[in-house]
Amino acid sequence: MIYLDNAATTRTAPEVVEAMLPYFTESFGNPSTIYSLGSASKKAVNQARKTIADALGANMEEIYFTAGGSESDNWAIKATAEAYAGKGRHIITTKIEHHAVLHTCQYLEKHGFEVTYLDVDRDGLVDPEQLKAAIRPDTILITIMFANNEIGTIEPIAEIGAIAKERGILFHTDAVQAFGQVPINVDEMHIDMLSSSAHKLNGPKGIGFLYIRKGVKIRSLIHGGAQERNRRAGTENVTGIVGFGAAVERAVRTMEERANKEIELRDYLIHRLETEIDYCWLNGHRTKRLPNNVNFSFLFIEGESMLIMLDMKGICASSGSACTSGSLDPSHVLLAIGLKHEEAHGSLRLTLSEENTKEEIDFVVDNLKQIVERLRSMSPLYEDFVKKNKA
Ligand SMILES: *Cc1c(COP(=O)(O)O)cnc(C)c1O
Repeated sequence: MIYLDNAATTRTAPEVVEAMLPYFTESFGNPSTIYSLGSASKKAVNQARKTIADALGANMEEIYFTAGGSESDNWAIKATAEAYAGKGRHIITTKIEHHAVLHTCQYLEKHGFEVTYLDVDRDGLVDPEQLKAAIRPDTILITIMFANNEIGTIEPIAEIGAIAKERGILFHTDAVQAFGQVPINVDEMHIDMLSSSAHKLNGPKGIGFLYIRKGVKIRSLIHGGAQERNRRAGTENVTGIVGFGAAVERAVRTMEERANKEIELRDYLIHRLETEIDYCWLNGHRTKRLPNNVNFSFLFIEGESMLIMLDMKGICASSGSACTSGSLDPSHVLLAIGLKHEEAHGSLRLTLSEENTKEEIDFVVDNLKQIVERLRSMSPLYEDFVKKNKA
């Protein structure tokens, strides 16, 4: 099997599993109890909290564990909207956010909030000038993703953060794809809230965190016990949190080497596709891009057919985000960067890890060439196109 869908989820690293195991068995105590079995769990949770805070340049009191990226996005947006509703009811986001942000904003629109969805350019970049122009006296929150999960484009987060800070508006970023892949510092980038999820960086599924800068007013989303400084109730997912901490420790330690390796493989893959297959192009910014993301559109091809044929060769890939595959709607991200419906339908996302090799990439490109040729040979549109171009 060749796994090229690391934006959907990643393999839990063996050292992460190892770190988690004792907290399923001998050290199973509830962190809220006072006997030593429980305080061992509490200590482990806080150690993970410290590791994560250090990775962001934050304080450990500003890290709140959740059940994943979606919960963190929901919490950041809904609960600040509620807390700041007295000040204003306008929110600014973009057209290319993950559905956890977009659908949350749409929900708030039904509850008396107004949302501006910023356009992006052909590469998927937000224009800071457009952001400035969209700010109103009643704007309470700007939520713009750090890096896009489909096309890999990295947004000008420090610039956006500086604008938000200058205007006194809260800034949240969905950093689920970026955290662990690129350096992030919440102070230098003026980030007030940041969402992350362990399973995108070789940690376990079902555990995430929301960074909330000290002083930000936010309501609770999950009411109950006093866990997470009274802000997020529920017995801590101790094994998940310990795994998250180990994954972050590993991600920070290996980031530079991993990125260099992935960028080399990524650019090799991009080069081979661009030079060896006709009528295809790279989506997303060429350099302001996640080290592991490759997204291509192929004319006259259905992305889903490509995925099925790749699967038959043992290759795991994606035609957009995992959440949208299965539906017939083209990706909202690809439409937002200006692709036509049929161009968006013919897209393929390949997301690498440091475990991938050049041999694997060669195998994938060789097979992809055949698959594209085969699918085009069955396409009446392609036939017409070739005839016209010959005439
Ligand atoms: C995966 C992802 C999410 C959702 O995270 P979960 O932990 O799966 O809920 C949110 N935003 C982005 C950008 C993602 O890639």
